[in-house]
Amino acid sequence: MKLLEGKVAIISGGTRGIGKGIALKFAQEGADVIFTYVSSEETANAVEKEIGAFGGKVKGYKSNAANMEDAVELINKVVEEFGQIDILVNNAGITKDGLLMRMSEENFDDVIKINLNSVFNMTKAALRTFLKQKNGSIINMSSIVGVRGNAGQANYSASKAGIIGFTKSIAAELGSRNIRCNAIAPGFIATEMTEKLDPEVVKGWSDSIPLKRPGTPEDIANATVFLASDMSTYISGQVLSVCGGMLM
Ligand code: NAP
Repeated sequence: MKLLEGKVAIISGGTRGIGKGIALKFAQEGADVIFTYVSSEETANAVEKEIGAFGGKVKGYKSNAANMEDAVELINKVVEEFGQIDILVNNAGITKDGLLMRMSEENFDDVIKINLNSVFNMTKAALRTFLKQKNGSIINMSSIVGVRGNAGQANYSASKAGIIGFTKSIAAELGSRNIRCNAIAPGFIATEMTEKLDPEVVKGWSDSIPLKRPGTPEDIANATVFLASDMSTYISGQVLSVCGGMLM
């Protein structure tokens, strides 16, 4: 029996990087997969095909997680077409790095809106379905910099710390309805997001990782499968660091 057989999962931001890794792994483990994106339509079609090869149902939706109307419309469509939602992975996120002295208000607001408001929007939109089912696993993609901060990422760190507070509050609020909410704090993971970083910064991060390598989307996907599956039915309100030992 596969770990996610019979489950329906929504993943925000699934066209590349960590989100795509999770979508592929979920499909491999037997889940029906819905993923979202904002701009990469062609890539989304290719990803749909790639995930579909595992045999389950799959659908990519253009839907901005930072927009509440989009989130509500997405959830309604998914419930109509798939009948249930068992797993919600709030993965969509961006960076707009810079030292505070040079960080514009716009860059601060954009990152908070896309990284943190998106988690509120998607969770709130899916809540009625979870409550009706008396079942659900919500997994929010935070970051180790949400736990410990990082120079040049005040906006991003604040958004990821906010996700942790949100996760713990929702776990407390919804536990009695058998709805779990956990966060994952990835360390340094090789994706397009981190490709943009200064090579010097990347080297510094890599050298400081006890396991001496950057993580892969698959490393994060494996932890996400665990938190999504019935293997973790007594785990809620936790932050699982997947960082090669960077954060101890
Ligand atoms: P990525 O490679 O940049 O991929 C981001 C994905 O999110 C893309 O599919 C993108 O598609 C989608 N997206 C962006 N804005 C969106 C929105 N408003 N609504 C819906 N989808 C949206 O990023 P990643 O490295 O895989 O990171 C995924 C998550 O892990 C993020 O939350 C990130 O903060 C977190 N994280 C990453 C690392 C790391 O080292 N990579 C470390 C810690 C935490 P479109 O461009 O088509 O919209």
